[in-house]
Amino acid sequence: DRLIEPEVQGNEDVVDRAIRPKLLADYTGQAHVKKQMEIFIEAARSRDEALDHLLIFGPPGLGKTTLANIVANELDVNIKTTSGPVLEKAGDLAALLTNLEEGDVLFIDEIHRLSPQVEEILYPAMEDYQLDIMIGEGPAARSIKLDLPPFTLIGATTRAGSLTSPLRDRFGIVQRLEFYSVADLAKIISRSAFYLDLTISPEGADEVARRSRGTPRIANRLLRRVRDFAQVKGDGKVCAEIAQQALDMVDVDKCGFDYMDRKYLLAIIEKFTGGPVGLDNLAAAIGEERETIEDVIEPFLIQQGFIQRTPRGRIASNAAYLHFNLTPQA
Ligand code: ADP
Repeated sequence: DRLIEPEVQGNEDVVDRAIRPKLLADYTGQAHVKKQMEIFIEAARSRDEALDHLLIFGPPGLGKTTLANIVANELDVNIKTTSGPVLEKAGDLAALLTNLEEGDVLFIDEIHRLSPQVEEILYPAMEDYQLDIMIGEGPAARSIKLDLPPFTLIGATTRAGSLTSPLRDRFGIVQRLEFYSVADLAKIISRSAFYLDLTISPEGADEVARRSRGTPRIANRLLRRVRDFAQVKGDGKVCAEIAQQALDMVDVDKCGFDYMDRKYLLAIIEKFTGGPVGLDNLAAAIGEERETIEDVIEPFLIQQGFIQRTPRGRIASNAAYLHFNLTPQA
């Protein structure tokens, strides 16, 4: 596994539970999202109504699940959590919906992966708080309608484009999470260190933040590796130098790149003279799947301006050349 993989690894979500913020005030960064959600939550609370359905977009590890839990917590309601691929049959969703209490949050992660049958149950549930479902089969089959209590659906997705438009249109609030700045990641790291009972200097937090690819989940994971290093090789405290040594040792460089990013960038630069190169050629050259390249390697490199995706293929930017101390092409 890549240390800088933005998806959950092992049991880290359980380990992270203690450091996961529970209040909007502790949710670092995403100022725009926070400002809006504060108002929407307060308004729903004062009217004693369910909050409008909320859709959260953003790459893995940026805090979609965390935000969903915070919203429920701030509304002082229960949250039930599931995910698109888990809801195989209409009945699976019906069971969850009929168990909701007034105002509760139903959180569906990876909502772009709902099956069409399940999605269809969701439309009237979202729109009219009605469950419309067929029971039985053949001539004995009949459709039943049930009233549901007003509830809030929170959907999370990494793929904005993969959501069907009827589903998307039924969300009253849509929030898009952005990659975090180094300063915000440093705040998250310092806060996590406090809960881990770890002393970290501001420079140490900055060093970890710079290598965390704009992603809190990666920041917290790197912090745990740095903590191990500090315990074994130092005095348990994290300064810039310890952070640097620890992250060099696990092969996460000063931009947060690992061997896979470097292999990818060097292939464009050296094998395809900087590009443009098509995805299939590039995939063959580095022995990776197209999907891995598009979903895992490229988003951060594009966001950081190391490559450009053009209709003719991928192009390495000057920053990519400079990262390897190479002279950019004229
Ligand atoms: P996603 O659901 O988008 O994959 P998560 O909500 O699971 O991401 O966030 C991953 C981890 O990052 C969480 O365990 C949490 O501790 C941390 N985290 C995410 N967003 C923030 C934030 N805004 N402030 C502080 N910590 C955060």
